[in-house]
Amino acid sequence: MFTKHVSALEWINEIDLVDHHCHGVIDANLDRSGFEALITESDAPAPAGTTFFDTQLGFAVRGHCAPVLGLEPFATPEAYLRRRKELGGAEANARFLAEANINTYIVETGHRGDEILSPEGMGARAHANFAEVVRLERLAEELLEAGQAVEGFRTAYGHLLDRRLTTAVGVKSIAAYRVGLDFTPGPPSDADVDRALTRWFAQAAEKDSSRLTDETLIRFVLWEAVQRKVPIQFHIGYGDPDVDLHRCNPLLLTEFMRRTRGSGATVLLLHCYPFHREAGYLAHVFEHVYCDVGLAVNYSGAQAEQIIAESLELTPFHKALFSSDAFGASELYYLGAKQFRTGLARTLDRWSAAEGWPETEQRRIAMLIGSENAHRVYSLDKPPSQGSRQ
Ligand SMILES: [Zn+2]
Repeated sequence: MFTKHVSALEWINEIDLVDHHCHGVIDANLDRSGFEALITESDAPAPAGTTFFDTQLGFAVRGHCAPVLGLEPFATPEAYLRRRKELGGAEANARFLAEANINTYIVETGHRGDEILSPEGMGARAHANFAEVVRLERLAEELLEAGQAVEGFRTAYGHLLDRRLTTAVGVKSIAAYRVGLDFTPGPPSDADVDRALTRWFAQAAEKDSSRLTDETLIRFVLWEAVQRKVPIQFHIGYGDPDVDLHRCNPLLLTEFMRRTRGSGATVLLLHCYPFHREAGYLAHVFEHVYCDVGLAVNYSGAQAEQIIAESLELTPFHKALFSSDAFGASELYYLGAKQFRTGLARTLDRWSAAEGWPETEQRRIAMLIGSENAHRVYSLDKPPSQGSRQ
């Protein structure tokens, strides 16, 4: 007796998705340079006479996104951007977010917050659920900008974090960008924090910039979050040229993981590429560590399937999450979801062909990674009024 083999591609679109790390979309119309800036991690335009459409992501935009705007697949970049402009940014966004078929967006608000839709705005535009993650370093910068003195700063930070956590479901740290992940893993003393605050305040006045790059203070905000037993997202791996990629290997957090075991906090390693196997190891051995390959799925296009498969070599299926890490261009939410679904389905097809994994088991795994792990880690099923996790 043979049972008909059903490809996971046939049912993968029915799987709920929680995008556990993304940013808001930009509603304004984008010109060519504005759009190209959103499909690269570089902070410089492509060399004269070349285009960022000639990348995995650019090909995915032309191949998969052009039909959503009513064009043939692989329409030229010029035709694509002309059509996008005709429709207007808000209409293009509504189309891509509808096609993305993401059930819940967990939106980080700390980066260029004035240009992008808020979590509520994302929920409304996408007709989806939404939640917020706050950036730890940004909260400290907000306090400084609001005129908080060094004296009382530590207490004020704790109060501000508590207040934001009455609605936010977790926090994010960009320690990787600001100091690298090889920071001293333990919490700093109060005296060390106060000394670092004095230094930071003086530098901020001198440079007229509140940007927080002090290692002691970044450790302080991280441990404030650990004490509150919340999900803590870390930027890991590649990003824009601000990162020293060799200091973004998640293995540098190994001692931090040891020290936060049993704290009640969870650690979510974002993006991870090209260290997704290292991240998988950490998620494998530390009970409070999770990971995703968001961003990498978008930027690797036709290779996304391989990265998804590699990330699931060691990552337990109850530790892997979906994210798009989309920012600004609605194409990135759509492609993040589409390429994740396709890549996971093809991977499951391959493994079931080789090892006979039953369809019910494949579906169960896809549901864990797509949404159920995120629901569990971020307690998404709790009403927001119970959001304070102190
Ligand atoms: Zn991000």
